[in-house]
Amino acid sequence: MRARGAVLVEIGRERPYASSRPIEVVDVELDPPGPGELLVRMEAAGVCHSDLSVVDGNRVRPVPMLLGHEACGRVEQVGDGVDDLAVGQRVVMAFLPRCGECAGCRSDGRLPCTPGSAANNAGELLGGGRRLHGADGSGLSGELHHHLGVSGFATHAVVDRRSVVPVDDDVPPEVAAVLGCAVLTGGGAVLNAGKPAQGDTVVVVGLGGVGMAALITAVSLGLGDVIGVDAVPEKLARARELGATAVHTPAEALEAGLKAPVVVEAAGNARAFETAVALTGVGGTTVTVGLPAPTAEATIRPLGITAEARTIVGSYLGSAVPARDIPTYAQMWREGRLPVDALISSRTTLDGINEAMDALADGRAVRQVVLFDGPESGSGSTGGGSGA
Ligand SMILES: [Zn+2]
Ligand SMILES: [Zn+2]
Repeated sequence: MRARGAVLVEIGRERPYASSRPIEVVDVELDPPGPGELLVRMEAAGVCHSDLSVVDGNRVRPVPMLLGHEACGRVEQVGDGVDDLAVGQRVVMAFLPRCGECAGCRSDGRLPCTPGSAANNAGELLGGGRRLHGADGSGLSGELHHHLGVSGFATHAVVDRRSVVPVDDDVPPEVAAVLGCAVLTGGGAVLNAGKPAQGDTVVVVGLGGVGMAALITAVSLGLGDVIGVDAVPEKLARARELGATAVHTPAEALEAGLKAPVVVEAAGNARAFETAVALTGVGGTTVTVGLPAPTAEATIRPLGITAEARTIVGSYLGSAVPARDIPTYAQMWREGRLPVDALISSRTTLDGINEAMDALADGRAVRQVVLFDGPESGSGSTGGGSGA
C-alpha cells in the first residue's frame, strides 16, 4: 500500500534543517505485513533526540531511513500468526524489540535484546528484511531503512508484533506515543536503575524529554526531594511547575556543593556526565541514561568512586522491558500520578519535521509531537498519495 513518510536522505547536512531539508516527506510503498507482523495506522509520533542524532550523524545509521521511533497508532491489519492483537487495537511502539529468547531478553531489562539490536542497526525489522520502498515519483528508489523497527514518522508502518505493546483506548495517542520512548527511558532510569529509597533526594541533570520524564517519575514516587539541573532557564521553570523541589543550573549546583544519593544524567553529553558524578553523594548512585556521541570522553577521579563507595550505572534505554513497563506508566498516568501530557511542549505535522529538528537541536523543545490526520486514509489505499 502507499503511505506518506519522513525519510532522511542524507546525514550531516548543515543547519538550519529548515533550509537544508535533510528529511523529505514523500510517498512510500509498504509491503503487506508478513508472518508475525502488523500494519499500523499512526496516530501520533514524538520527536526525540535519538532521531536528531541520526540526522546530525552522532549516531550513524544507514540511509535513506524513514525516521521516528516514539509513536502510537492503531492496528489496521494483522499478519499470519498474530493471534493476540485485533484490528483497531491501540498500540505503543517499542523501539527496542525483544525476541524473548536471547540472553539480553533474560536479563530483566538490564541488557538489550541481541537480535533486536542487530535488526535496529541494520535498519530492518526483527523478522529480517525491510518492508519499505520509495514510491514511483518520490525521487527515492529501492528499499528504505526502518528506524529502530518503528519508522513512526509516517501515516502507516509495518512492524513486528514484538515491536509493539497494546494500550487501552483511554490513553490518548500523544500520551501513548511519549510512553514509548521518553517515559520508558527516563522513568526506567529512576525506577529500574536508580531505585531511590524512602527519603532519598533524586537529582536529574538534563531536562529534555527523557530527563523531564525521569523528573516526573521521581516526583510521583514521593520519596524525597527532586532537583532539576539544566542550563536553560525555561526548562528549570517547567521542572518547578512539574513538582521539582529545587532547580539549578549545572554551575550553581556544583558551586553549592549539592550531593544526592541518586543522580540521573539524561543530557547525553560528557560534561553532563561529569556533573552528575560530581553531584553524587557518599554511597550514592549515578545513573547515566543519556547517549553521548561515540567519541565523547569524560574525566572522573576514581578515588572518589572507591573511597566513597559510589556506583555508576549505565541504564541503556531505562533498563526497560517495554511489555512490562509501559502498562505500569499508563496506569500511573491514569491515576493522575504521572503527568505525561505535561512533557509535550508543542504539536506539529509531518511536513514540519525539519523545523522540529531545529527546535530540538536549539534546546527549545521538551517534547514535540507529530499528529496525524484521522482514519480517512484507510487500508488498501493505493496510488495517488494518501495525504499527510
Ligand atoms: Zn527516543
Ligand atoms: Zn532477545
